[in-house]
Amino acid sequence: MFFAVISIMPQMFMAVRDFGITGRAVACEKVVIHTINPRDFTTDNYKRIDERTFGGGPGMVMMAEPLEKAILHAKKLAEDHFGQQGISSPQCPVVHLSPQGRVLDESSVVAFAQYDGMILLCGRYEGIDERLLEAYVDAEISVGDYVLTGGELPAMIVMDSIIRRLPSVMGDDHSAIQDSFVDGLLDYPHYTKPLVFHGQAVPEVLLSGHHANIAKWRFIQQVQRTKLRRPDLWEKFTPNKEQVKWLKVLDDEVKS
Ligand code: SAM
Repeated sequence: MFFAVISIMPQMFMAVRDFGITGRAVACEKVVIHTINPRDFTTDNYKRIDERTFGGGPGMVMMAEPLEKAILHAKKLAEDHFGQQGISSPQCPVVHLSPQGRVLDESSVVAFAQYDGMILLCGRYEGIDERLLEAYVDAEISVGDYVLTGGELPAMIVMDSIIRRLPSVMGDDHSAIQDSFVDGLLDYPHYTKPLVFHGQAVPEVLLSGHHANIAKWRFIQQVQRTKLRRPDLWEKFTPNKEQVKWLKVLDDEVKS
């Protein structure tokens, strides 16, 4: 997958490019990350990318022109990258990280992972001149209903969440699909050595080697913690046939 990130703080992206699973995906060329600094597309000596807001008010606004040049450069990089692979019209939307965008969730992560690439536009200050957004942005993503100082951390969240869903990026592709949200529920609890910690033993069923019982126990744990911690998810959950049976057993146990 191809990422071009437009940011005045490109060094921040070392965190994704050089570390952990995402770093490994870059090292083995499953993922390409370009950073583009809009300051490199300014024409004045100060490399200025922000100006005061028309109409008055606090804070500065990122100017449209350097960002336009940065986006066109990102599009050219994408064209060259995919051209070399014989792909002529890559799906590579321009995405603005914004608290006003659609809040990221696992289903949108899965949808974004189907693209060939993404051009991620990170705002700073009060944000970006609206005319630039109207002219170039295909989608807006928020990472939650709170405001951060810049789009860099949200861009990294978007990249990390997508990269881990790409085929053969995780050591075991199953890890990603067993996590919270994938099947509509929160994940079950995990345990490892030692067998006893602070007087608490690992649940016996997990040591039994009985796969069906373990699967049932884990599902029930998922149900109980989703009901408790995220009733909104529980309301939307549709169990499969096997799960319907397990839920009935759980129901009967509660009643008796
Ligand atoms: N004035 C803007 C507003 O209230 O909608 C907020 C600007 S914020 C201080 C600066 C930049 O941080 C934004 O342009 C955006 O790129 C990024 N940002 C802040 N919060 C975000 C969030 N929750 N999700 C995605 N990006 C965010």
